[in-house]
Amino acid sequence: MKAAAFDYVRPPDLAGVLDALQIAPGAKLIAGGQSLVPMLNLRLARPSLLIDIGGVDALRIVEDRKTHVRIGATVTHAELEDRPISGCALLQRVARGIAYRSVRNRGTVGGSMAHADPAADWPLAMAAIGATVIVESGTGARQLPAEDFMLGAFQTRLSDEEVVVAIDVPKLSPAARFGYYKFCRKTGEFPEASAAAVFDPASRTAQLYLGALAGAPQPLHDLAATIARQGAPAITDAAIADALHDVAKGDAPQCRMRRAAVKRALKEVFAS
Ligand code: FAD
Repeated sequence: MKAAAFDYVRPPDLAGVLDALQIAPGAKLIAGGQSLVPMLNLRLARPSLLIDIGGVDALRIVEDRKTHVRIGATVTHAELEDRPISGCALLQRVARGIAYRSVRNRGTVGGSMAHADPAADWPLAMAAIGATVIVESGTGARQLPAEDFMLGAFQTRLSDEEVVVAIDVPKLSPAARFGYYKFCRKTGEFPEASAAAVFDPASRTAQLYLGALAGAPQPLHDLAATIARQGAPAITDAAIADALHDVAKGDAPQCRMRRAAVKRALKEVFAS
């Protein structure tokens, strides 16, 4: 099947993108096209107008600020894979595990956050690291914590007139440790189960999230707090089973993978 007919614009700046969004109801942004193009071809999306945000330089920035790094929305997974960022090593680690290189060459971090696939890597990783999503519309900007930016499967707090412009990723201290683990049926596929853990004693951060669920990543705050207090001995099968009792009960393969993803992400924290 081919996409239904649509008009196409590629504004040179953010103002042009926001104007186009306001005057064309039924318009859709396109960034890397890695999710949207298949949806167009299957006619699951039938926008009247595609607004290509790839020509906006302001969305391609990577800015090292004092407490955080600002990652522009159209920075690709491959750019983050290739570019170590001090205090943000988790970004490189996550980026290199997304799909395969041709997807990473085009897929963008902002597109991934906006698309909100429950199995996607960035919504999980950005929640765990405590990132903030910066969005803008014709009426101003908003800063939304990544941990509740995603409302459910393919649903976010973005309104139709808003654009994700950047993600602010807090810099971790040298004492910080993180773990990230996902099970994929085959290399390059979306994960069946995933987990992310970030512990930073300097900022008293203890975050643990389970991904690849039916909706948004699920925080496991109590387990993270216990492990922050008690250390590696608190990473037990019983504690993990208890924390995941509503999403990983029993011995079905997916339940085992969920528990194992959490355990392996946590073990990585203490191995590093
Ligand atoms: P697009 O496809 O261009 O857009 C997706 C949606 O987001 C559209 O609705 C669009 O309107 C909206 N959008 C895009 N940018 C913005 C913005 N700045 N503001 C507001 N809305 C916006 N991802 C993973 O995380 N892990 C995987 O393992 C993985 N495997 C994949 C395997 C394959 C074969 C493919 C094709 C994709 C895979 N992906 C995976 C997804 C990919 O990594 C992209 O991140 C994802 O497709 C969205 O990014 P994009 O830039 O391509 O967005």
